[in-house]
Amino acid sequence: MKYIGAHVSAAGGVENAPVNAAAIGAKAFALFTKNQRQWMAPPLTKENIEKFKANMVLHGFEPWQVLPHDSYLINLGHPGKAELEKSRAAFLDEMQRCEQLGLDRLNFHPGSHLKLISPEESLDIIAESINITLNKTLGVIAVIENTAGQGSNLGHRFEQIRHIIDRIEDKSRVGVCIDTCHTLTAGYDLITPEGYEQTMMEFDSIIGFGFLKGLHLNDSMKPLGSHVDRHENIGKGYLGLDVFKRIMLDSRFNNIPIILETPDESLWAEEIKTLYAING
Ligand SMILES: [Zn+2]
Ligand SMILES: [Zn+2]
Repeated sequence: MKYIGAHVSAAGGVENAPVNAAAIGAKAFALFTKNQRQWMAPPLTKENIEKFKANMVLHGFEPWQVLPHDSYLINLGHPGKAELEKSRAAFLDEMQRCEQLGLDRLNFHPGSHLKLISPEESLDIIAESINITLNKTLGVIAVIENTAGQGSNLGHRFEQIRHIIDRIEDKSRVGVCIDTCHTLTAGYDLITPEGYEQTMMEFDSIIGFGFLKGLHLNDSMKPLGSHVDRHENIGKGYLGLDVFKRIMLDSRFNNIPIILETPDESLWAEEIKTLYAING
């Protein structure tokens, strides 16, 4: 079964996210548990937490149907000591917020080497950052999102994600999220049926579907291999509706949160309906 939703607003408090998700017919959702463009945020209050949990139950969401996304400011592979410490502290705070909300996974972009160190050195730092954080938290899986490889962003090759996973001490608490837009612009064909199968085979042999903890469903404004991260609404970009039909009929994407991060959110309810009409 497919669990489709979108990255909904948590404006006014995290407790509003499950309500916003239910309102568009979602069976999964993503949220920011704090303002994603600021380093510091007030802690979640007891009221936030209780209301969030109550709204989860009220609207029929289980924790695994929720895929929170961390702040864009965090770089767990930062070459600078002080900046790395800042990112690690912020990431720990994000993981603890998930813990408090009773959620079991946190999605994040691995990090960037900023052309100051080698990709491998930065990947090693990312793995160390994850290990440190997992040792200080309980029950939340660190979910690495594949990226478009814009600038010096790491995680655009499946081999880079595998490099990180290989160095994680507790493999039961590391996972992966595939973003369809990022996958295409990173250089993996999803458009032709043969390219799609080849990409999925590579994912399975290099990383393994056992690590798949989420899917970001986005069309792309930019073509294959462009290394640019610009999402488009479903069926309106370079991927096209046929790719999403293929994904909906692919059982490898059953029973994980499938999240729209498409730019025009007024279309989300319709996009969810269209996708469910292909395969519920
Ligand atoms: Zn992301
Ligand atoms: Zn994404």
